[in-house]
Amino acid sequence: LFHNAEFVPPDAIFDVTRRYLADSNRDKVNLGQGTYRDENGQPWVLPSVRMAKEEIGDCGHEYLPIAGLKSFRDEAVRLALRGTEAHEDGRVATCQALSGTGALLLAGLALKKADARITTVYITEPTWSNHHLLFSSLGFQVVSVPYYKDGAFDFESYMNGLREADSTSAVVLHACAHNPTGCDPSRDQWKQIGKLVQEKGIFPIFDSAYLGFNSGSVDEDAWAIRFFVDVLKLEASICLSFAKSMGLYGERIGLVSFVTRSAETARIMSSILENVQRATVSNPPAYGARIAATVLSTPAIAEQWSKDLITMSGRIKSMRHKLFNELMSLQTPGDWSHLINQTGMFGYTGISPSQVAYLEKKHHVYMADTSRISIAGLNESNVTYFARALDDAVRT
Ligand code: PMP
Repeated sequence: LFHNAEFVPPDAIFDVTRRYLADSNRDKVNLGQGTYRDENGQPWVLPSVRMAKEEIGDCGHEYLPIAGLKSFRDEAVRLALRGTEAHEDGRVATCQALSGTGALLLAGLALKKADARITTVYITEPTWSNHHLLFSSLGFQVVSVPYYKDGAFDFESYMNGLREADSTSAVVLHACAHNPTGCDPSRDQWKQIGKLVQEKGIFPIFDSAYLGFNSGSVDEDAWAIRFFVDVLKLEASICLSFAKSMGLYGERIGLVSFVTRSAETARIMSSILENVQRATVSNPPAYGARIAATVLSTPAIAEQWSKDLITMSGRIKSMRHKLFNELMSLQTPGDWSHLINQTGMFGYTGISPSQVAYLEKKHHVYMADTSRISIAGLNESNVTYFARALDDAVRT
């Protein structure tokens, strides 16, 4: 039966983690996987999440409704869209999803089911490794638009690529902290992207995996979303993940939403979201939804969460500066200013695949072969080691 089946290679980044775990060297450094680590290199359970878990206690194991926990949906959509007319008018359809990935999946399935005439999805080149796989698996044609050149966002090439899109197209926009480059459009550039999206009738899908985690402020990180929805009055899908912002990676907690033109369309899109949820996962998981809802709806815990966001984003920023300063003091050849100009958890170092391989072989430093590093993997104990290793790789 399976004689024609072909082996599908796993996502390369998971293989980086596998090699890291198999390495017994005590100086080894893992800059591959995109998960936050504290100053001791350990996973961090946020104090706000601990508080929420205490508050929840034993909540049993009953099913949630198909669309998920209502209080979670209400809080999560308010987080992304508070102050917008669409939110106040009740023109937003929401459905709990299996983290950010599940949110994108439901968005794609709902677009198909809604007969929205969208056949093509525009993504950035480079982008998060799952965008192409996910949307092509759903039967969309996927077009990659150049996004990055010489350590910065390549605005001109991006706009030229996007000009090819029309009203049969959707575009996936990284709301903030572009993965993998760490280069976001400026507000002025966002305005121009928004105008183009509006003129061409392209449907925007905001992939928002880092709201609050990027700058420490949700309102700051949600600026582009609110500009599109509230200033340009565009219909859009907003896909949220609480993996990074609450450290709830394995709980798979996210939200998909559709901002529509009327409460009636929102009601129809809600029914479609429920239908595609039913067809794929039936009921979303409960525990992460209860945690996130409790964090967002309990003032004292929400206040702690704001502090936690600043702790995480602040530590990442300080590691960017520390790495940059180390390279400056080593007088490492090349311009490294992109390390401090980029934002979010990831950075593109810009070194070659052979230098990446050398770092792994000689110095036990693990990273994606694209040269992307997860800044969260750096801490006071390993940043100097990494800077010296990088210096050596660049000079060799
Ligand atoms: N989109 C982007 C751009 C991401 O970086 C991630 C996390 N790596 C996700 C979506 C979704 O991740 P998750 O499904 O774990 O929420």
